[in-house]
Amino acid sequence: MNVDSKLCIGCGACASVCPVNAIEVADTYVRADKNCTNCGICTKSCPVGAVTVERKL
Ligand code: SF4
Ligand code: SF4
Repeated sequence: MNVDSKLCIGCGACASVCPVNAIEVADTYVRADKNCTNCGICTKSCPVGAVTVERKL
């Protein structure tokens, strides 16, 4: 997943829904570590639409 830091409000919702605890939130700087599977769950959780994922189709 990737986060647009200009949109992110640092709410932490994405981190709380990640099934593999891959997300680190520090203010509005949000990143996912190597455990991220690009499942897309965090994308739906974000209230401001700041999260995008690259999906392998
Ligand atoms: S795409 Fe899935 S695995 Fe990756 S950070 Fe979001 S919820 Fe976690
Ligand atoms: S859910 Fe969206 S606004 Fe909240 S911390 Fe994650 S990326 Fe930022």
